[in-house]
Amino acid sequence: LDHAEFRRQGHMVIDFLADYYQNINNYPVRSEVNPGYLVERLPDCAPLLPESIERILKDVDNDIIPGITHWQSPNFFAYFASSGSTASFLGEMLMNGFNIVGFNWLSSPAATELEMVVMNWLSKLLQLPRSFSFSNDGDGGGVLLGTTCEAIICTLLAAKEKMLDKIGRTNTEKLVVYCSDQTHVSLQKAAKIVGIKPENVRKVLTTKSTNFKLTPESLNEVIKRDVEAGLIPIYLCATVGTTSTTTVDPLAPLCELSSKYNMWVHVDAAYAGSACICPEFRHFLDGVEGASSFSFNAHKWLLTNLACCCLWVKDKSALTKPLSTNSEYLTNKATESGQVVDYKDWQIALTRRFQALKLWMVLRSYGVTGLRAFIRNHVKMAKNFEGLVTMDSRFEIVVPRYFSVVCFRVSPCSININEHHGKNYEANEFNHKLLESINATGLIYMTHSVVGGVYFIRFSVGATLTEDRHVQLAWELVQDKATSLLGTQTP
Ligand code: PLP
Repeated sequence: LDHAEFRRQGHMVIDFLADYYQNINNYPVRSEVNPGYLVERLPDCAPLLPESIERILKDVDNDIIPGITHWQSPNFFAYFASSGSTASFLGEMLMNGFNIVGFNWLSSPAATELEMVVMNWLSKLLQLPRSFSFSNDGDGGGVLLGTTCEAIICTLLAAKEKMLDKIGRTNTEKLVVYCSDQTHVSLQKAAKIVGIKPENVRKVLTTKSTNFKLTPESLNEVIKRDVEAGLIPIYLCATVGTTSTTTVDPLAPLCELSSKYNMWVHVDAAYAGSACICPEFRHFLDGVEGASSFSFNAHKWLLTNLACCCLWVKDKSALTKPLSTNSEYLTNKATESGQVVDYKDWQIALTRRFQALKLWMVLRSYGVTGLRAFIRNHVKMAKNFEGLVTMDSRFEIVVPRYFSVVCFRVSPCSININEHHGKNYEANEFNHKLLESINATGLIYMTHSVVGGVYFIRFSVGATLTEDRHVQLAWELVQDKATSLLGTQTP
C-alpha cells in the first residue's frame, strides 16, 4: 500500500461519491436495466494487467450505476429505507482502514470494548431493562451482528439448546416455534438452519380487526393444542413494526403468556426499534422486560450504513454456550481469566468487523437530540402524506399508520368493478397497475404488500435526504397517475 497513492485514490473516490450524491436526482430511482445487462457488458475474465483507478471509476459510472437502484435518493419510498449518513460512512472508512479481525478481546481490545460501550449506550437510549446490558451484577449484554436473520438464528439456537439441555436431546422433533402470519420470513429460514421441523413453525393467523397484530388469545389457542398433542413450545418471535404494515404486537401479554410455557421470546424491531429512542414511541416496547432478547437494525432507520443489527440478550451464557468454539491457536490469558467478552462466541462466524466504530461515530456526531429529530421528521412527513391521502376521496388508508410508513390504495368504490372477478380482485389489479405506472416514471420508487387479501401501496419514508418537497411531489405523481388510469377504465 503506497501512502501517496492511497491518499490520491481515496480523495478520488470521495469526490466521485460526493458527485453521485449531488446528482442523485438525475437517475431513475429504480434501476431500469434488463436481466443480464452487466454480464453482457463486462469481459468474461479478470484483466491480466493492473488497471488505473480512473479507468475503473469510469466503468463504475458507465456500467455499474445504471444497474443501481438508488436507495439513497430522496425519492426512495420503497421497502424500509437504508438511512446512511456521513458520520457512519466515515466510521466505515476508519473500520476498513484499520481492517482488524475482532474475533476475541485480544485480537483488538478496543473493538470489543467499544462495542460493549456502544451497546450499553443504545440500551439506555431505548430504555431497555438493565438486565439486557453489560453490568457487574447481571448476565445480559449486547452484540453487533449484520442482520436480523442472524439475530434470530443465534437466539433460536440458544432457546433450542437451553430446552434440550433440560428435557433431553431425544425431544428435538417435538420442539415448536411461534410467530404470526406477519412475522418476517427470517424466522422460517432460521428454523430450517437451526433444525426445527418445518411443520413445527406455527404462523398464527392475524386479522384486520386487530390491525394484523398477534393476539395472546390466538397464540394461546395454538400453543394449547400443541401442548395437548405432546409438543414442546420453545420460542416466540414477536414484532415491533411488521414488514408489511409496521403493526406492533402487544409485548406485555405475549411475554406473560410465553413465560407460562417457559418459552424464549425474541422481539424483532428491525425497522421500528430506532423510533423507540423517542420518548413518544417508547411505549411500543412496553413489556420488553419480559422478553429474552431484542434486536433492531440500525442500518434501517438510525443513520447507520449497512449492515448493522443490534442484538441484546438477558442471559448471555444461553447464547454463548452453543455458539462458542475453542481452538488452540486462539487460546490466550485474557479469555482464560474470564474477564473479557469474546464476541466470536456471540455470532455464527469467527471473523467480525469493527462495527462499533461507525455506530459510535453516529451517536457522537448526531447526539441523542439529532437522532430523535431525524426520526421525528420522517414520521411528520409520513403523517403529512397520510393527510393528503385521506383528503382525496378516491383513496383509502388500508391499515393505520404507526411510524413512517403509509399503507394506502385507490379504494374499490372509485374503480369500475367487474362483478365477474369480484371487488378485491379488481382493486388489487388496479392498484398493482397504478404502482407500476408510478415506478415506471423513475421519479420515485414505492413497493407493495398484501394483507388479508388486499393489495396496497407502501409509502415508506426513511431515506436520509428526503424533505417535505419530495413527499409533496410524490403525492402529486400518485394523484396524476391515478387520474389517468381511472380515466382509461371502460365504464
Ligand atoms: N424483521 C423485520 C421486521 C424486517 O422488516 C426485516 C426486513 O425488512 C427483517 C426482519 C430482515 O432483516 P435482515 O435482512 O436484517 O435479516
